[in-house]
Amino acid sequence: MELSKLKAPLFVSWQLTRDCDLSCLHCCTGSAPGRPSPNELNREEALRLADDLLSTGVPYVMLCGGEPALSPHFFEVAERLGRGGVQLKIETNGQRFGAQEARRLRELPIRSVQVSLDGDTPEAYRSLRPNGSLEKAWLACRAVREAGLPLEAAFAPCRSNIREAEAVICRALELGAFRFNTGMLMRIGTAVKFWDRLAPTEEDYDRFFSMLERKEVELAGRIEVWFRPHSLDEALELQLREPPAALLVLPDGLVKVSAALSFICADLRTQSVSQAWGRYLSALGSLKVFDPARFRLAGANAEAVV
Ligand code: SF4
Repeated sequence: MELSKLKAPLFVSWQLTRDCDLSCLHCCTGSAPGRPSPNELNREEALRLADDLLSTGVPYVMLCGGEPALSPHFFEVAERLGRGGVQLKIETNGQRFGAQEARRLRELPIRSVQVSLDGDTPEAYRSLRPNGSLEKAWLACRAVREAGLPLEAAFAPCRSNIREAEAVICRALELGAFRFNTGMLMRIGTAVKFWDRLAPTEEDYDRFFSMLERKEVELAGRIEVWFRPHSLDEALELQLREPPAALLVLPDGLVKVSAALSFICADLRTQSVSQAWGRYLSALGSLKVFDPARFRLAGANAEAVV
């Protein structure tokens, strides 16, 4: 599809806040309790942006964070978008997502609620999410399904949990998820600091991807096993080859060109969604001269690369 023919992005990933109730060692957004980004969009600004997304005709929005449910205007934004006809995906760690939250969302066009299940034993889960409860994450999954909402499970492979990945796929299936999402761990955010402890070995990854390929076939028709592209480099190369019709909005309204890079192409506090879309299309030109190898070399400090 020729992106320049589109009047609006087909998808917007919107980080409502960087604040989170967990402090995961592998967090790719650098989130932690009491750590919202400076200058996050306030309620009025967030609702104005929601209205702009509606009037621009964006069909699909993912609300994420941090923990999006911690944003005081999470439900208002979801309801403004959903009632306007926008399909929604919600990403949550599931620590404060129960029957009440699921019931409130079920009135909206929810494409999925994704809960992170980074382990199948409390020990492995807590090795990455020291103040988190795997039991609560499972309860959140059950609440999602009981409300009749589609469930996805996400898994970030690290040294301490990668051997539980197969058990997590089985758990996700049992919990009623239609998809299991994973991929290589990203060396950004908090993960940079703990990389030597977190990064799986090559052998771990080989076993992991072989298992995923096996499960993909074994469980076809029961749960989708999503793990491609494998690495950040492959994701970047794919983005250069086939740029997505997508904007990635940060909590302060800035728009990133790619999750893995620090390029900012627009500011939705002062620019409209249409303007941001135009700037994204121009920024893709700069990305075409980007060398993923440079990123790989400087990956230890991704925020400083560009
Ligand atoms: S990985 Fe998710 S749950 Fe953990 S700190 Fe980051 S945003 Fe919060």
